[in-house]
Amino acid sequence: MSSPQNDSVIAKPLAASQAEASPDGNSTQHKCEFPEVPLADVMGGALRITKQVLDHGFVALVDCMPRLAPAGKTADAAIVQAARVSYGEGTKQVNEDRGLVRYLLRHRHTTPFEMVEFKFHIAMPMFVARQWIRHRTANVNEYSARYSIVPDRFYRPTAESIRAQSASNRQGGDGLVEAGTAQDFLMLLDRAEALYKDYLSLTEKGVARELARAALPVSVYTEWYWKCDLHNLFHFLSLRMDSHAQYEIRVFAEAMYELIKPIVPMSCEAFEDYRLGAMHLTRLEIEAIRSGSPIATTNKRETAEFEEKCVRLGITPARTAD
Ligand SMILES: Cc1cc2nc3c(=O)[nH]c(=O)nc-3n(C[C@H](O)[C@H](O)[C@H](O)COP(=O)(O)OP(=O)(O)OC[C@H]3O[C@@H](n4cnc5c(N)ncnc54)[C@H](O)[C@@H]3O)c2cc1C
Repeated sequence: MSSPQNDSVIAKPLAASQAEASPDGNSTQHKCEFPEVPLADVMGGALRITKQVLDHGFVALVDCMPRLAPAGKTADAAIVQAARVSYGEGTKQVNEDRGLVRYLLRHRHTTPFEMVEFKFHIAMPMFVARQWIRHRTANVNEYSARYSIVPDRFYRPTAESIRAQSASNRQGGDGLVEAGTAQDFLMLLDRAEALYKDYLSLTEKGVARELARAALPVSVYTEWYWKCDLHNLFHFLSLRMDSHAQYEIRVFAEAMYELIKPIVPMSCEAFEDYRLGAMHLTRLEIEAIRSGSPIATTNKRETAEFEEKCVRLGITPARTAD
Protein backbone atom coordinates (compact mmCIF):
# COMPACT_ATOMS: atom_id res chain seq x y z
CA MET A 1 0.00 0.00 0.00
CA SER A 2 1.26 3.45 -0.81
CA SER A 3 1.07 5.34 2.44
CA PRO A 4 -0.83 8.62 2.35
CA GLN A 5 1.38 11.69 2.49
CA ASN A 6 -0.27 14.38 4.52
CA ASP A 7 1.23 17.30 2.62
CA SER A 8 0.85 16.27 -1.00
CA VAL A 9 -2.27 18.19 -2.03
CA ILE A 10 -2.95 21.67 -0.80
CA ALA A 11 -6.46 23.05 -1.06
CA LYS A 12 -6.92 26.08 -3.29
CA PRO A 13 -8.63 28.90 -1.40
CA LEU A 14 -12.15 29.77 -2.55
CA ALA A 15 -13.17 33.33 -3.20
CA ALA A 16 -12.92 35.24 0.08
CA SER A 17 -16.61 36.04 0.05
CA GLN A 18 -19.52 35.77 -2.35
CA ALA A 19 -22.37 38.22 -2.66
CA GLU A 20 -25.76 36.79 -3.49
CA ALA A 21 -29.25 38.24 -3.81
CA SER A 22 -31.81 36.84 -1.35
CA PRO A 23 -35.46 36.31 -2.45
CA ASP A 24 -36.44 39.68 -0.93
CA GLY A 25 -33.85 41.42 -3.10
CA ASN A 26 -31.40 42.19 -0.32
CA SER A 27 -27.82 41.24 -0.86
CA THR A 28 -26.49 38.61 1.58
CA GLN A 29 -22.85 38.03 2.28
CA HIS A 30 -21.33 34.53 2.63
CA LYS A 31 -18.56 34.59 5.14
CA CYS A 32 -15.70 32.27 4.23
CA GLU A 33 -13.08 31.39 6.82
CA PHE A 34 -9.68 30.04 5.88
CA PRO A 35 -7.40 27.80 7.91
CA GLU A 36 -4.41 29.24 9.67
CA VAL A 37 -2.31 26.46 8.15
CA PRO A 38 -2.75 24.96 4.65
CA LEU A 39 -5.01 21.95 4.23
CA ALA A 40 -3.62 18.61 3.05
CA ASP A 41 -5.27 15.56 1.47
CA VAL A 42 -5.44 12.78 4.08
CA MET A 43 -5.27 10.23 1.22
CA GLY A 44 -2.06 11.78 -0.07
CA GLY A 45 -3.68 12.80 -3.36
CA ALA A 46 -4.49 9.17 -4.26
CA LEU A 47 -7.53 8.39 -6.41
CA ARG A 48 -7.81 5.02 -4.70
CA ILE A 49 -5.66 2.91 -2.39
CA THR A 50 -6.14 -0.80 -3.03
CA LYS A 51 -5.32 -3.98 -1.14
CA GLN A 52 -5.72 -7.41 -2.76
CA VAL A 53 -7.72 -9.86 -0.65
CA LEU A 54 -8.24 -13.63 -1.20
CA ASP A 55 -7.70 -14.88 -4.77
CA HIS A 56 -9.70 -12.34 -6.82
CA GLY A 57 -10.91 -9.88 -4.21
CA PHE A 58 -9.86 -6.40 -3.23
CA VAL A 59 -10.67 -3.53 -0.94
CA ALA A 60 -10.04 -0.08 -2.36
CA LEU A 61 -10.41 3.08 -0.33
CA VAL A 62 -11.84 5.54 -2.84
CA ASP A 63 -12.74 8.53 -0.70
CA CYS A 64 -13.17 9.76 2.83
CA MET A 65 -14.55 12.64 4.85
CA PRO A 66 -12.82 14.81 5.84
CA ARG A 67 -10.67 14.53 2.74
CA LEU A 68 -8.68 17.60 3.82
CA ALA A 69 -7.16 18.21 7.23
CA PRO A 70 -4.86 20.97 8.46
CA ALA A 71 -1.32 20.05 7.33
CA GLY A 72 0.36 17.97 10.01
CA LYS A 73 -2.95 16.64 11.33
CA THR A 74 -4.97 13.57 10.42
CA ALA A 75 -8.69 13.05 9.83
CA ASP A 76 -8.96 12.54 13.60
CA ALA A 77 -9.15 16.34 13.59
CA ALA A 78 -12.80 16.15 12.48
CA ILE A 79 -13.66 14.08 15.55
CA VAL A 80 -11.89 16.51 17.85
CA GLN A 81 -13.55 19.46 16.13
CA ALA A 82 -17.04 17.99 16.62
CA ALA A 83 -16.34 16.98 20.22
CA ARG A 84 -15.17 20.48 21.10
CA VAL A 85 -18.69 21.70 20.39
CA SER A 86 -19.60 19.77 23.53
CA TYR A 87 -16.47 20.26 25.56
CA GLY A 88 -15.30 23.74 24.53
CA GLU A 89 -12.10 24.76 22.83
CA GLY A 90 -9.46 23.94 25.45
CA THR A 91 -5.96 23.49 24.17
CA LYS A 92 -5.42 22.43 20.59
CA GLN A 93 -2.14 20.60 21.00
CA VAL A 94 -1.87 17.27 19.19
CA ASN A 95 -1.38 15.38 22.46
CA GLU A 96 -4.57 16.99 23.78
CA ASP A 97 -6.40 15.83 20.65
CA ARG A 98 -5.18 12.30 21.33
CA GLY A 99 -6.38 12.45 24.93
CA LEU A 100 -9.79 13.68 23.81
CA VAL A 101 -10.17 10.97 21.15
CA ARG A 102 -9.20 8.31 23.69
CA TYR A 103 -11.65 9.71 26.25
CA LEU A 104 -14.49 9.73 23.71
CA LEU A 105 -13.90 6.15 22.66
CA ARG A 106 -13.46 4.90 26.22
CA HIS A 107 -16.69 6.54 27.33
CA ARG A 108 -18.68 5.51 24.23
CA HIS A 109 -19.29 9.11 23.25
CA THR A 110 -19.91 7.91 19.73
CA THR A 111 -21.32 10.72 17.63
CA PRO A 112 -18.02 12.59 17.06
CA PHE A 113 -16.77 9.42 15.31
CA GLU A 114 -19.71 9.65 12.92
CA MET A 115 -18.14 12.86 11.56
CA VAL A 116 -15.57 10.77 9.68
CA GLU A 117 -16.68 8.61 6.74
CA PHE A 118 -14.94 6.14 4.44
CA LYS A 119 -16.01 4.99 0.98
CA PHE A 120 -14.68 1.65 -0.26
CA HIS A 121 -14.93 -0.28 -3.50
CA ILE A 122 -14.87 -3.98 -2.65
CA ALA A 123 -14.89 -7.25 -4.61
CA MET A 124 -15.74 -10.31 -2.50
CA PRO A 125 -17.35 -13.75 -2.87
CA MET A 126 -21.15 -13.75 -2.71
CA PHE A 127 -21.18 -15.75 0.54
CA VAL A 128 -18.98 -13.06 2.14
CA ALA A 129 -21.30 -10.34 0.82
CA ARG A 130 -24.25 -12.10 2.49
CA GLN A 131 -22.58 -11.77 5.90
CA TRP A 132 -21.43 -8.23 5.14
CA ILE A 133 -24.82 -6.88 4.08
CA ARG A 134 -26.16 -7.59 7.58
CA HIS A 135 -24.36 -4.43 8.68
CA ARG A 136 -27.22 -2.05 8.05
CA THR A 137 -25.62 1.26 8.91
CA ALA A 138 -23.55 1.50 5.72
CA ASN A 139 -24.64 2.85 2.32
CA VAL A 140 -24.28 0.19 -0.35
CA ASN A 141 -24.45 0.09 -4.13
CA GLU A 142 -23.86 -3.37 -5.64
CA TYR A 143 -23.00 -4.66 -9.11
CA SER A 144 -26.24 -5.59 -10.87
CA ALA A 145 -26.37 -9.18 -12.14
CA ARG A 146 -29.74 -8.29 -13.68
CA TYR A 147 -28.16 -5.58 -15.82
CA SER A 148 -24.75 -7.12 -16.55
CA ILE A 149 -23.16 -10.52 -17.04
CA VAL A 150 -21.51 -11.79 -13.87
CA PRO A 151 -17.71 -11.86 -14.40
CA ASP A 152 -16.00 -15.26 -14.38
CA ARG A 153 -14.40 -15.06 -10.91
CA PHE A 154 -14.84 -17.71 -8.25
CA TYR A 155 -13.31 -18.04 -4.80
CA ARG A 156 -11.14 -21.12 -4.43
CA PRO A 157 -9.27 -21.83 -1.22
CA THR A 158 -5.92 -23.54 -1.60
CA ALA A 159 -5.78 -27.30 -0.93
CA GLU A 160 -3.69 -26.58 2.17
CA SER A 161 -6.26 -24.20 3.69
CA ILE A 162 -9.48 -26.25 3.60
CA ARG A 163 -10.79 -26.18 7.13
CA ALA A 164 -12.47 -29.04 8.95
CA GLN A 165 -15.81 -28.54 10.70
CA SER A 166 -15.15 -27.53 14.29
CA ALA A 167 -16.42 -30.00 16.89
CA SER A 168 -16.82 -27.31 19.57
CA ASN A 169 -18.23 -24.46 17.47
CA ARG A 170 -21.05 -25.47 15.14
CA GLN A 171 -20.58 -22.22 13.25
CA GLY A 172 -16.86 -22.51 12.55
CA GLY A 173 -13.98 -24.40 11.05
CA ASP A 174 -11.10 -25.75 13.07
CA GLY A 175 -7.90 -27.39 11.82
CA LEU A 176 -7.58 -28.87 8.33
CA VAL A 177 -9.22 -31.78 6.52
CA GLU A 178 -7.02 -34.58 5.22
CA ALA A 179 -5.43 -34.12 1.78
CA GLY A 180 -7.78 -36.51 -0.08
CA THR A 181 -10.88 -34.78 1.30
CA ALA A 182 -9.40 -31.41 0.33
CA GLN A 183 -8.98 -32.67 -3.27
CA ASP A 184 -12.59 -33.94 -3.31
CA PHE A 185 -13.77 -30.51 -2.20
CA LEU A 186 -11.72 -28.73 -4.87
CA MET A 187 -13.21 -31.07 -7.51
CA LEU A 188 -16.68 -30.16 -6.26
CA LEU A 189 -15.76 -26.48 -6.70
CA ASP A 190 -14.55 -27.31 -10.24
CA ARG A 191 -17.96 -28.74 -11.07
CA ALA A 192 -19.73 -25.74 -9.55
CA GLU A 193 -17.54 -23.30 -11.50
CA ALA A 194 -18.16 -25.28 -14.71
CA LEU A 195 -21.78 -24.11 -14.49
CA TYR A 196 -20.52 -20.67 -15.59
CA LYS A 197 -20.14 -21.87 -19.20
CA ASP A 198 -23.81 -22.95 -19.26
CA TYR A 199 -24.84 -19.69 -17.56
CA LEU A 200 -23.15 -17.73 -20.36
CA SER A 201 -24.54 -19.82 -23.20
CA LEU A 202 -28.09 -19.70 -21.82
CA THR A 203 -27.96 -15.91 -21.46
CA GLU A 204 -26.77 -15.84 -25.09
CA LYS A 205 -29.80 -17.97 -26.02
CA GLY A 206 -32.02 -15.35 -24.40
CA VAL A 207 -32.55 -16.40 -20.77
CA ALA A 208 -32.80 -13.22 -18.68
CA ARG A 209 -29.63 -12.45 -16.74
CA GLU A 210 -31.71 -11.90 -13.59
CA LEU A 211 -32.84 -15.55 -13.78
CA ALA A 212 -29.75 -17.22 -15.25
CA ARG A 213 -27.64 -16.11 -12.28
CA ALA A 214 -29.66 -18.48 -10.07
CA ALA A 215 -27.41 -21.28 -11.37
CA LEU A 216 -24.17 -19.69 -10.12
CA PRO A 217 -22.57 -20.85 -6.86
CA VAL A 218 -22.10 -18.50 -3.90
CA SER A 219 -18.33 -18.62 -4.47
CA VAL A 220 -18.83 -16.20 -7.38
CA TYR A 221 -17.49 -12.69 -6.78
CA THR A 222 -19.64 -9.60 -6.54
CA GLU A 223 -18.64 -5.95 -6.12
CA TRP A 224 -20.02 -2.97 -4.32
CA TYR A 225 -19.36 0.53 -3.11
CA TRP A 226 -19.70 0.64 0.65
CA LYS A 227 -19.71 3.87 2.65
CA CYS A 228 -19.75 3.95 6.42
CA ASP A 229 -18.97 6.38 9.22
CA LEU A 230 -16.15 5.58 11.59
CA HIS A 231 -18.35 4.75 14.58
CA ASN A 232 -20.25 2.10 12.63
CA LEU A 233 -17.10 0.97 10.82
CA PHE A 234 -15.49 0.27 14.19
CA HIS A 235 -18.58 -1.76 15.12
CA PHE A 236 -18.23 -3.73 11.86
CA LEU A 237 -14.49 -4.20 12.40
CA SER A 238 -14.85 -5.29 16.03
CA LEU A 239 -17.25 -8.05 14.90
CA ARG A 240 -15.51 -9.06 11.68
CA MET A 241 -11.86 -8.80 12.78
CA ASP A 242 -12.71 -10.99 15.75
CA SER A 243 -11.38 -14.55 15.76
CA HIS A 244 -14.99 -15.85 15.77
CA ALA A 245 -15.68 -14.23 12.39
CA GLN A 246 -15.24 -16.43 9.31
CA TYR A 247 -11.74 -16.21 7.85
CA GLU A 248 -13.02 -15.11 4.42
CA ILE A 249 -14.68 -11.95 5.81
CA ARG A 250 -12.01 -11.37 8.45
CA VAL A 251 -9.32 -10.82 5.82
CA PHE A 252 -11.45 -8.10 4.22
CA ALA A 253 -12.02 -6.41 7.58
CA GLU A 254 -8.29 -6.52 8.30
CA ALA A 255 -7.50 -4.99 4.91
CA MET A 256 -9.98 -2.17 5.52
CA TYR A 257 -8.47 -1.52 8.90
CA GLU A 258 -4.98 -1.24 7.41
CA LEU A 259 -6.30 1.26 4.87
CA ILE A 260 -7.94 3.57 7.43
CA LYS A 261 -5.23 3.36 10.07
CA PRO A 262 -2.90 6.00 8.55
CA ILE A 263 -5.89 8.31 8.06
CA VAL A 264 -7.29 8.14 11.62
CA PRO A 265 -4.30 6.85 13.64
CA MET A 266 -5.44 8.28 16.99
CA SER A 267 -8.89 6.74 16.70
CA CYS A 268 -7.42 3.39 15.63
CA GLU A 269 -5.00 3.40 18.53
CA ALA A 270 -7.90 4.05 20.93
CA PHE A 271 -10.01 1.41 19.15
CA GLU A 272 -7.25 -1.18 19.65
CA ASP A 273 -6.77 -0.22 23.30
CA TYR A 274 -10.40 0.09 24.37
CA ARG A 275 -12.38 -2.12 21.97
CA LEU A 276 -10.37 -4.61 19.93
CA GLY A 277 -7.92 -5.59 22.64
CA ALA A 278 -10.39 -5.13 25.50
CA MET A 279 -12.89 -7.57 26.94
CA HIS A 280 -16.22 -7.38 28.63
CA LEU A 281 -16.75 -8.86 32.08
CA THR A 282 -20.25 -9.84 33.21
CA ARG A 283 -21.54 -9.23 36.73
CA LEU A 284 -21.19 -12.96 37.46
CA GLU A 285 -17.60 -12.96 36.20
CA ILE A 286 -16.62 -9.95 38.30
CA GLU A 287 -18.20 -11.57 41.35
CA ALA A 288 -16.34 -14.87 40.72
CA ILE A 289 -13.00 -13.08 40.34
CA ARG A 290 -13.60 -10.85 43.37
CA SER A 291 -14.70 -13.69 45.67
CA GLY A 292 -12.45 -16.45 44.26
CA SER A 293 -15.55 -18.68 43.98
CA PRO A 294 -16.70 -20.61 40.90
CA ILE A 295 -18.82 -18.57 38.51
CA ALA A 296 -22.47 -18.75 39.57
CA THR A 297 -23.89 -20.41 36.47
CA THR A 298 -24.72 -23.96 35.36
CA ASN A 299 -24.34 -22.98 31.71
CA LYS A 300 -21.32 -24.83 30.31
CA ARG A 301 -20.72 -22.37 27.50
CA GLU A 302 -20.76 -19.39 29.86
CA THR A 303 -18.32 -21.20 32.15
CA ALA A 304 -16.01 -21.94 29.21
CA GLU A 305 -16.14 -18.28 28.13
CA PHE A 306 -15.23 -17.21 31.66
CA GLU A 307 -12.30 -19.63 31.68
CA GLU A 308 -11.05 -18.19 28.37
CA LYS A 309 -11.15 -14.72 29.91
CA CYS A 310 -9.25 -15.96 32.98
CA VAL A 311 -6.50 -17.26 30.68
CA ARG A 312 -6.20 -13.76 29.20
CA LEU A 313 -6.15 -12.26 32.69
CA GLY A 314 -3.52 -14.76 33.84
CA ILE A 315 -5.66 -16.05 36.70
CA THR A 316 -6.93 -19.53 37.54
CA PRO A 317 -10.71 -19.69 37.96
CA ALA A 318 -12.15 -21.58 40.94
CA ARG A 319 -14.07 -24.65 39.78
CA THR A 320 -17.12 -26.39 41.27
CA ALA A 321 -16.39 -29.89 42.61
CA ASP A 322 -17.69 -32.59 40.19
C1 LIG B 1 -19.60 -14.29 14.43
C2 LIG B 1 -20.97 -13.92 13.92
C3 LIG B 1 -21.92 -14.89 13.71
C4 LIG B 1 -23.18 -14.54 13.21
N1 LIG B 1 -24.12 -15.53 12.99
C5 LIG B 1 -25.35 -15.22 12.48
C6 LIG B 1 -26.34 -16.22 12.21
O1 LIG B 1 -26.13 -17.39 12.45
N2 LIG B 1 -27.52 -15.83 11.67
C7 LIG B 1 -27.80 -14.51 11.40
O2 LIG B 1 -28.90 -14.22 10.91
N3 LIG B 1 -26.89 -13.54 11.63
C8 LIG B 1 -25.68 -13.85 12.16
N4 LIG B 1 -24.75 -12.87 12.39
C9 LIG B 1 -25.10 -11.49 12.06
C10 LIG B 1 -25.43 -10.69 13.35
O3 LIG B 1 -26.55 -11.20 14.02
C11 LIG B 1 -25.69 -9.23 12.96
O4 LIG B 1 -26.80 -9.16 12.11
C12 LIG B 1 -24.50 -8.58 12.28
O5 LIG B 1 -23.32 -8.85 12.99
C13 LIG B 1 -24.72 -7.08 12.19
O6 LIG B 1 -24.64 -6.57 13.51
P1 LIG B 1 -25.44 -5.26 13.94
O7 LIG B 1 -26.90 -5.45 13.72
O8 LIG B 1 -25.00 -4.92 15.32
O9 LIG B 1 -24.79 -4.21 12.92
P2 LIG B 1 -25.45 -3.02 12.10
O10 LIG B 1 -26.54 -3.48 11.22
O11 LIG B 1 -24.28 -2.31 11.49
O12 LIG B 1 -26.09 -2.11 13.16
C14 LIG B 1 -25.29 -1.41 14.13
C15 LIG B 1 -26.19 -1.10 15.31
O13 LIG B 1 -27.20 -0.20 14.88
C16 LIG B 1 -28.44 -0.55 15.46
N5 LIG B 1 -29.40 -0.84 14.36
C17 LIG B 1 -29.12 -0.84 13.03
N6 LIG B 1 -30.22 -1.08 12.33
C18 LIG B 1 -31.21 -1.26 13.22
C19 LIG B 1 -32.60 -1.56 13.12
N7 LIG B 1 -33.20 -1.69 11.94
N8 LIG B 1 -33.30 -1.70 14.24
C20 LIG B 1 -32.72 -1.55 15.45
N9 LIG B 1 -31.42 -1.26 15.62
C21 LIG B 1 -30.68 -1.11 14.52
C22 LIG B 1 -28.20 -1.73 16.39
O14 LIG B 1 -27.94 -1.23 17.67
C23 LIG B 1 -26.92 -2.33 15.84
O15 LIG B 1 -26.16 -3.03 16.81
C24 LIG B 1 -23.49 -13.20 12.91
C25 LIG B 1 -22.51 -12.21 13.12
C26 LIG B 1 -21.26 -12.55 13.60
C27 LIG B 1 -20.22 -11.48 13.81
